[in-house]
Amino acid sequence: MTKEVKPKINLAVYWGAACGGCCVSVLDVHEALFTVIEHANLVFWPIALDIKYKDVEAMPDGFIDVTLFNGAVRNSENEHMAKLLRKKTKILVAYGSCAHMGGIPGLANFSNREGIFNRAYIESESTVNPDRVFPQQHHRVEEGVLELPEFYNDVKTLNQVVNVDYYLPGCPPQTERLIEVFLAIVTKADLPPVGSVVGANEKCQCDECKRKKSDKKKIRAFKRPWQIKDDGETCFLEQGVICMGPATRGGCGVRCVEGNAPCRGCYGPPSDVTDPGLKMMSAIATMIDSNDSDEIEKIIETIDDPAGTFYRFSLPGSILRRKVL
Ligand code: SF4
Ligand code: SF4
Ligand code: SF4
Repeated sequence: MTKEVKPKINLAVYWGAACGGCCVSVLDVHEALFTVIEHANLVFWPIALDIKYKDVEAMPDGFIDVTLFNGAVRNSENEHMAKLLRKKTKILVAYGSCAHMGGIPGLANFSNREGIFNRAYIESESTVNPDRVFPQQHHRVEEGVLELPEFYNDVKTLNQVVNVDYYLPGCPPQTERLIEVFLAIVTKADLPPVGSVVGANEKCQCDECKRKKSDKKKIRAFKRPWQIKDDGETCFLEQGVICMGPATRGGCGVRCVEGNAPCRGCYGPPSDVTDPGLKMMSAIATMIDSNDSDEIEKIIETIDDPAGTFYRFSLPGSILRRKVL
């Protein structure tokens, strides 16, 4: 008797402006990779397979069943590939914080192209560049013209460039949640409506956190984690340490707090929160132990880098999008 051969889906994994961690997280599925291979042909994955852009261009439209696109859109190459993969893919998943909300590369929106180039090529401590040479998009050599992608002024989320079917959040997403979502797609199980966040929960981290919370949060100064002696049991916010739990979607297993570090917010906001920074500011406002405006200002000044902290993973996808310079 011949064994029934199940049709496989075509799977692609691609990175835009990314650190590589999301691609590595796909490898982190360990032996579950056999489950992936059982159900999917990997048709494009630059970190693991030598498949060129022209090979993707040659694929018929809709040829790829699922693309996990990680990384933000920072340059013209990222944008070209986002558009190309959108055309070639039935289900496009924004995989990880950078594709979802802009992520760590999105912090560059606190500066701009000129500021970043000056810092990188002129001002940085290890740079000697008296002629102020900057990378050029086109450079002629004997063999022809070399071309670099255009470096944009703004970092964008994937859905600011193309339509996205699903968002799988996290920096990087939890491996178990990836497998869960992958199998749901493969088996065409109960997938939520297009545009949904998958592989995460609806409510915030605090709903899943086991640390003790009280109604008597009274903060007179905010501290960095190393400035407190964490008792391992009390809510970080109540100990005066910024924890993004109230403004962050659950689903990672509260993994940072379980490891005695505050949540940094990589899963993005829960479904009932439009902007994580605003939610965090409102959570903090209820905790400050003063009614005096000058004193309140001084207490707020003890928060180190509030914008960078509240929008660490989400600036391009937030209401602010960028700093106005
Ligand atoms: S979400 Fe995190 S792990 Fe993934 S590419 Fe961005 S920075 Fe790296
Ligand atoms: S703020 Fe952080 S430590 Fe406190 S309950 Fe929420 S997730 Fe837990
Ligand atoms: S606890 Fe927060 S920062 Fe840590 S993985 Fe979960 S969502 Fe991300």
